[in-house]
Amino acid sequence: NSGSEIRVRFAPSPTGPLHIGGVRTALYNYLFARKMGGKMLLRIEDTDQNRFVPGAEDYILESLRWVGIEIDEGQGVGGPHGPYRQSERREIYQKEAQRLIDEGKAYYAFDTAEELDEMRRRLEAANAPAAQYNAITRMQMRNSLTMKPEDVRARMEAGEPYVIRLKTPRKEEVRLNDLIRGWVNVHSSAIDDKVLLKSDGLPTYHLANIVDDHLMGITHVIRGEEWLPSAPLHVLLYRYLGWESTMPQFAHLPLLLKPEGNGKLSKRDADLGGFPIFPLKWTDPFTGQEARGFREDGYLPEATVNFLALLGWNPGTEQELFTMEELIATF
Ligand code: GLU
Repeated sequence: NSGSEIRVRFAPSPTGPLHIGGVRTALYNYLFARKMGGKMLLRIEDTDQNRFVPGAEDYILESLRWVGIEIDEGQGVGGPHGPYRQSERREIYQKEAQRLIDEGKAYYAFDTAEELDEMRRRLEAANAPAAQYNAITRMQMRNSLTMKPEDVRARMEAGEPYVIRLKTPRKEEVRLNDLIRGWVNVHSSAIDDKVLLKSDGLPTYHLANIVDDHLMGITHVIRGEEWLPSAPLHVLLYRYLGWESTMPQFAHLPLLLKPEGNGKLSKRDADLGGFPIFPLKWTDPFTGQEARGFREDGYLPEATVNFLALLGWNPGTEQELFTMEELIATF
């Protein structure tokens, strides 16, 4: 990475079919990368074993191919640098979590699910603010900040499960300048001591995402605005890991709006947002239904791409159908 090249990523979790909102995120990353002469990589964020759906990764690849999004790095086994699959990179995240422990920026926590529930009940009863495991409450819990080092070691040697938590600073300003939303300021006391490494040794989304964006030289994080509330935590992680000076720029895409760009989503539009490109041979465990998709409904990939691109921005012309090249040129 020369240091000036634009690098973006599409980082889906293989938890089911790729929905139209996810394809839009991929498309915006792609158009931006092509427009800027940069690179786009694909990273499968598969560290949540409970939500993993077999077949979802192939499904994602096929959906991207169908709409004509070409990945530069990390597509398929044996690609130039790929595949980027987080489940295969666990030592990398463990090393960084350990470094945070060694530098006093993270700690081991042994609390059981029952103990955590009990703390939440007490906080609720006291009308405490949303942050639950933080600079105040951590002092009442079972972790390496409140226990003697020899006790911590003994528990680990006895095989007691533990997680690694971020030690959120008590009084720090956390700021980011989102390319779409502008300045977002958060006080660190509003950020939980998030789990970074789970008891199964796998990282949480937050740690893996930040470590990978850094190591993969990502310059712009373009993703759905459902991730905006996590962004201050991510800024804090960059700071703690010593990577703040090369932190990527963030652009959180607003929810899908109606094509006219006025008014809120209706039920029908919301259904559209959850509409897959084509059905995954997989049945939704919650509804028991097999999804339909754009492809099966006879839409052409070009029409789908245009529909998605023009939902979010208007090139300011009367033209109605754009090729991918034209979209890149007007982006
Ligand atoms: N794995 C996350 C998702 O499925 C990625 C979020 C991000 O782009 O940081 O949406």
